[in-house]
Amino acid sequence: MSEPAERLESPRPIPHFVGGRLHPGHGGREGDVFDPATGAVTGRVALAGADEVGAAVAAAQRAFRPWAETSPLRRARVMFRFRELVERDQERLAAIVTSEHGKTIPDARGEVQRGLEVVEFATGVPQLLKGEYTEQVATGIDAWSVRQPLGVCVGITPFNFPVMVPMWMFPMAIACGNAFVLKPSERDPSASLALAELLREAGLPDGVFNVIQGDRTAVDALLAHPDVQAVSFVGSTAVARHVFATGAAAGKRVQALGGAKNHLVVMPDADLDQAADALVGAAYGSAGERCMAVSVAVAVGDAADPLVERLAPRVRALKVGDGRDPEVEMGPVITAEHRAKILSYLDDGLAAGARLAVDGRGLRVKGREGGFFLGGSLFDQVTPGMRVYREEIFGPVLCVVRVPDLAGAVELVSGHEYGNGASIFTRDGRAAREFAHRVQAGMVGVNVPIPVPMAFHSFGGWKRSLFGDHHAHGPEAIRFYTRLKAVTQRWPTSGGGPAFSMPTPS
Ligand code: NAD
Repeated sequence: MSEPAERLESPRPIPHFVGGRLHPGHGGREGDVFDPATGAVTGRVALAGADEVGAAVAAAQRAFRPWAETSPLRRARVMFRFRELVERDQERLAAIVTSEHGKTIPDARGEVQRGLEVVEFATGVPQLLKGEYTEQVATGIDAWSVRQPLGVCVGITPFNFPVMVPMWMFPMAIACGNAFVLKPSERDPSASLALAELLREAGLPDGVFNVIQGDRTAVDALLAHPDVQAVSFVGSTAVARHVFATGAAAGKRVQALGGAKNHLVVMPDADLDQAADALVGAAYGSAGERCMAVSVAVAVGDAADPLVERLAPRVRALKVGDGRDPEVEMGPVITAEHRAKILSYLDDGLAAGARLAVDGRGLRVKGREGGFFLGGSLFDQVTPGMRVYREEIFGPVLCVVRVPDLAGAVELVSGHEYGNGASIFTRDGRAAREFAHRVQAGMVGVNVPIPVPMAFHSFGGWKRSLFGDHHAHGPEAIRFYTRLKAVTQRWPTSGGGPAFSMPTPS
């Protein structure tokens, strides 16, 4: 793309969505929203304070009881309609994602599709909410258990999947009978409003779904609000810990998914061309800004030199540019600050003695000089003590670590503080089984670089990649967004007098 970057004179205001309508907020703070491909400020997002948060929670609280009383079948029908509308507007949603996030249009389309799959799972909620029944737990006594909604649930989401990650949460929470307040990332907030409008068009009653725009001030107000029953968080580990600790201390149910450092182990018997292709797609797709991006290639034994030889030309050949250009494979990163942080990691890796086999620092995209671009970088000879290995860079940087054997690979991956995804590429079924069985990570791939579970399974990491007990979407979401009630019932024919000892079945 060679035309000059578009400059908008007056950035678009990006409001909240409360009680079924757009709400500009109370004229408080605002934040810039960029088009990362041009660097232009395209929007000014409202940043909520405690009073705007209070209004959103109050709207959700009012809507909760009537929605919870609506039968699961009717709730499912709203999800069926919402599903149709998201499919109808898939291209529009993808374009919104690309305009504020920067990822390519096909990648954005894929994110909408993965979100849609959660909606499809949520349409089965009448079946998923079915309880358990035991007739005759004692003579003339029956017992059953049911799952009931919690009340107002909150979703706090990261910038890297502005459609998919909210859709891991709200379709399940709402289908279970809860009301929802979404606090999307302030970096790319517009997709949340498009989703709110589609839910309204699908017939969701006003107040069941609300969007509160903001930053940490809004998050802290949500965590302190007494009417918020449950919080689903996805973002960086430091914030995930804070959200988990603060929410739990306030008596809320919390699931907080954090950062990652995903390893892909390449065994010497693997098809190395296949492994190199998989690594390049998984490391540099979405500019490495995926929680399931592969950021470490673990080269086992003799695989190392031929793997690096195959990776380097592929990384150099990456087509980097505006995500709206159909030729482009990798877009910009989210902000200028984030690019500066990634650059500082490259300096750090070099100073620590890693070999920069491909240096993406000098990349310029013609006609997009203001964009937040970086080329793909490849570090070889990385060791576990280096910061570039220990910390999440969240950019287009792949580190190659060399280990002697499978046991060394399992030990390396399992010893990392993050435990989101881990994969192995091999032709040896026994090695694959051993890896899948032993590795300390929540999602494992065998000859699959990014092992993201489908919507009818659940998504989540181990160790510092997830705080809380429940993974996201799938059957775990039904458990997270409901609480169990057990009912024991008898219809006696006559009184038997008081019973003072512990009841036991007769
Ligand atoms: P982030 O932690 O900066 O922000 C996430 C959310 O928390 C945003 O809504 C933000 O407004 C809010 N927030 C930021 N700082 C806060 C603070 N100090 N107090 C309270 N709230 C705060 O994350 P990000 O940069 O938007 O997203 C990237 C991160 O998310 C990466 O670490 C990535 O691995 C992680 N992520 C994890 C998963 C997963 O499934 N484990 C999925 C996607 C992204």
